[in-house]
Amino acid sequence: MISLSVKIRFFGSLCDLTKGRHLFEFVPGVNQTIKDCIERLGVPHTEVSFITLNGSFVDFSRVVCDGETYFVYPESDLPIEDVYLVSPRFVGEPRFVLDIHLGKLAKLLRIFGIYAEYGILDDDEIVARGVSMGYVILTKDRKLLMRKEIKYGYVVRSDDPYEQFDEVYRKYNLGKWASPFSRCLVCNGEILEVDKRVVEGRVPIRVFELNERFGVCSSCGKIYWPGTHYEHMEAFVSRYLPRRVLDPF
Ligand SMILES: [Zn+2]
Repeated sequence: MISLSVKIRFFGSLCDLTKGRHLFEFVPGVNQTIKDCIERLGVPHTEVSFITLNGSFVDFSRVVCDGETYFVYPESDLPIEDVYLVSPRFVGEPRFVLDIHLGKLAKLLRIFGIYAEYGILDDDEIVARGVSMGYVILTKDRKLLMRKEIKYGYVVRSDDPYEQFDEVYRKYNLGKWASPFSRCLVCNGEILEVDKRVVEGRVPIRVFELNERFGVCSSCGKIYWPGTHYEHMEAFVSRYLPRRVLDPF
């Protein structure tokens, strides 16, 4: 008896999600789509950019047939026309909503002034925010990104917040959108520079005397100034934006 099987070959960063394995061969279910097969192997649809079969592009709805071999690719710089992409490219300034396990990453993004919504406990709510607002969902939970309504999402690979930041920075070209120290680290609100007199009596006297520039979060009211902690962050920011003249707010 001839066994019925389909082969799927993953490329590039998709193999991060398959423990480094490139090629899978398995017996599909009845009327199973290529999307189902790919997600069954642990790769959410949001990670897949395009799929080919015998050199032609196919979309997620393609029902797989015996003997076929699919090539599955992540987002890349290849000049593929949008019409052939199974997941849309993110264009424009990215805004993120992060799952509850990525608090340090959220803070690092906010240091760069990148919109990073964080603190929602409920997965359904995270998905609803992402979908309704067009935000990119960042998570380590790949099952979360398998929900079909999600358009933009990314499975953060590393467990280290700085490496996670590096992944997201590169993938979404954040250097183009960064505005360091313009966003509140606590609540994600925008920091606005204020006249020094506004913060008099609201910060320690020594801080008031030693600093000329102050900013206030437009959302939670937290006061910011270029103190020691700021200098530490400045070193981190300069690693990514070495030629940028950093303004404190
Ligand atoms: Zn705030």
